[in-house]
Amino acid sequence: MSAKILVVEDEAKLARFVELELKHEGYEVKTEGSGRAALAEALAGDYDLILLDIMLPELNGLEILRRLKKEKDTPVILLTARDAVMDKVSGLDAGAVDYVTKPFAIEELLARIRVALKLHPRQDGHSSESQPLSEGTLRWGPLLMDIPRHRVTMNGHEISLTNREFLMLRTLLENTDIVLSRDTLLEKVCGYEYAGETNVIDVYIRYLRSKIDDAFSVRMIRTVRGVGYVINRWEE
Ligand code: CA
Repeated sequence: MSAKILVVEDEAKLARFVELELKHEGYEVKTEGSGRAALAEALAGDYDLILLDIMLPELNGLEILRRLKKEKDTPVILLTARDAVMDKVSGLDAGAVDYVTKPFAIEELLARIRVALKLHPRQDGHSSESQPLSEGTLRWGPLLMDIPRHRVTMNGHEISLTNREFLMLRTLLENTDIVLSRDTLLEKVCGYEYAGETNVIDVYIRYLRSKIDDAFSVRMIRTVRGVGYVINRWEE
């Protein structure tokens, strides 16, 4: 069964282009051009993924995302303007799984869609991959990350993280066994056009290690010298 995607974009030409490309890839597609109609459709429909433009008439994409996330966990990829760093950060904080900056190459969008669908399969058995955890939960041995509730626990003990620490941990957990460079982490955690130094990443890693590795005597976040950081799959 093909995945169902809702495309929310008010630029009619772009919406049509994306719709055709997605259909060509075999997805089922519906498009909406206004904020209110999009929110209603997202809430009522049974979508595997939503592509959500931020600048929309009536209701902007971030507001749609916030309202949607109160009701359901459909993964959302935001379409953002090139210089809207704050939109990206607030979008990820509000629960978007990824963002793509406009103008984008269609191949990049398709690749992000494939990753999002793989990482966030639907729960009703429609996906062939088994997913023992509830949607939006990442596990690393005794550590559980509940993304919709913005909550991390280790053996049931709550770990209090700032938004950026949470985002950093989430990015590493969603990419277990993949070494992420400081640049990649910086883009995910601080937004693409963040002008500061990549060593802010080392600072966040230090905070996370003191709250998790040191506090619970585990070795979770590994440094790969000259490359970046990785969390390896948990092994009993
Ligand atoms: Ca727009």
